[in-house]
Amino acid sequence: MQTTIPFHNTYAQLPAPFHTPQAPVPVASPSLIAVNRPLAADLGMTLGDDDELAEIFAGNRALPGAAPIAQAYAGHQFGGFSPQLGDGRAVLLGEVITSGGARRDVQLKGSGRTPYSRGGDGRAWLGPVLREYVVSEAMHALGIPTTRALAAVRTGERVLRQDGPLPGAILTRVASSHLRVGTFQYFAARGDTASLARLFGYAVQRHYPGAQDPGAFLRAVIARQAALVAQWMGLGFIHGVMNTDNTSISGETIDYGPCAFMDGYFADQVFSSIDRQGRYAYSNQPHLIVWNMAQLATALVPLMPDQDAAIADFTEAVHAMPDLIEDERLRVFGAKIGLAEPSEDDATLIGDLLQIMEDSGADFTNTFRALARGKAADEFTDPSLFRAWETRWKSRIESEPDWRARMEAANPAVIPRNHRVEEMIAAAVAGDDAPFHRMVEALARPYEDLEVSAYLAEPPSPDQIVRETFCG
Ligand code: AMP
Ligand code: MG
Ligand code: MG
Repeated sequence: MQTTIPFHNTYAQLPAPFHTPQAPVPVASPSLIAVNRPLAADLGMTLGDDDELAEIFAGNRALPGAAPIAQAYAGHQFGGFSPQLGDGRAVLLGEVITSGGARRDVQLKGSGRTPYSRGGDGRAWLGPVLREYVVSEAMHALGIPTTRALAAVRTGERVLRQDGPLPGAILTRVASSHLRVGTFQYFAARGDTASLARLFGYAVQRHYPGAQDPGAFLRAVIARQAALVAQWMGLGFIHGVMNTDNTSISGETIDYGPCAFMDGYFADQVFSSIDRQGRYAYSNQPHLIVWNMAQLATALVPLMPDQDAAIADFTEAVHAMPDLIEDERLRVFGAKIGLAEPSEDDATLIGDLLQIMEDSGADFTNTFRALARGKAADEFTDPSLFRAWETRWKSRIESEPDWRARMEAANPAVIPRNHRVEEMIAAAVAGDDAPFHRMVEALARPYEDLEVSAYLAEPPSPDQIVRETFCG
């Protein structure tokens, strides 16, 4: 069988300022690491042999129907505005329709230089490619809106990074779209209101067909982002680079860079080596997503006939977001302690648990998982503090008939722990992909206690703790 992808492209049909035609730059000697067969089937693909797949997912062989482009966008990076970013190391091959009728982008990441590369080499190294593969697929299995991983290949080339030459790789990523807050900012900053209006129409049709006007659209994006960030918080997930170019209009998690899941619970945890100020620390994420939505709001203002009225209306929508996030977070953490409809009082109960967890550095994932089983006390340096909390909690869940099932569904047994991810990457760099495949298998069923997953439930020993994560 030959590999086919049934493309139905729309973004490539938009005019010049939206993108630049850009074929992937061929690589020396591609080899397949993984292809996500269930996802490929859902996208209507047929798959050929591994050699052909390697050629295709490396960008060496063009597929009929593909219309490869690099997309233009701007973005606030750590608070400073860059008017010209764009796909510097990615190309959108085209779009496909899933078995459920949803449109998806198929993008190669690490596929060579583009007109938007600036000083970069257009490439990715193996580590971040495998991290994004594993973490994005884990997020999907955890029930979090996210881009997916369709394939990973080695390029057979070396890429030069700070610590020297590293093996090159390419990720094939599937997304609801690659429309970013920064895509709107790109046209707004250029004063190109006609293109901005065109982008708005495209985004509404693709993601929010019910939104009649920019105000309704803004509120719809805000609602999805509020829910998304609350879900991240519930997993101890730290995105690490919540720049506006990494904030998706669709409400999916996108652009996994120096992201990480916490082991011990620390509200101010930061992993990213480039986040020196802690801007994107765990507990700052709810604030920073509001800041990012304010930037989206600003970019939408030129679309409005009465701009003063629009500013007042959009400001109200942005100001309402912190409460929305708090509501979502209460719902997420309420479920984690077994509650169907948590109240304001329950917010105190949850906050008190988090405080004693932080005081002990209790393992975030394992504490919540152990709670329903009566085994959480071991996670605390002073178990008596936990016992006092547990007594309050037990009296609260007396009126919650389904608390145990709710907790099993809200508290995963495993997450992609940093030390295991780093081990997996080191093995792959040495040529052993078995840990990668094992991790993908384990994380496909994160709410089950599986033998293959047990090693992912072990917190790091002091010498295994990963304190810093890097971009690719
Ligand atoms: P990121 O921090 O990965 O979201 O990337 C920010 C911007 O830098 C985007 O425009 C990327 O396309 C670009 N970029 C990141 N790495 C590279 C690279 N190795 N070569 C070219 N552009 C890059
Ligand atoms: Mg990015
Ligand atoms: Mg505190």
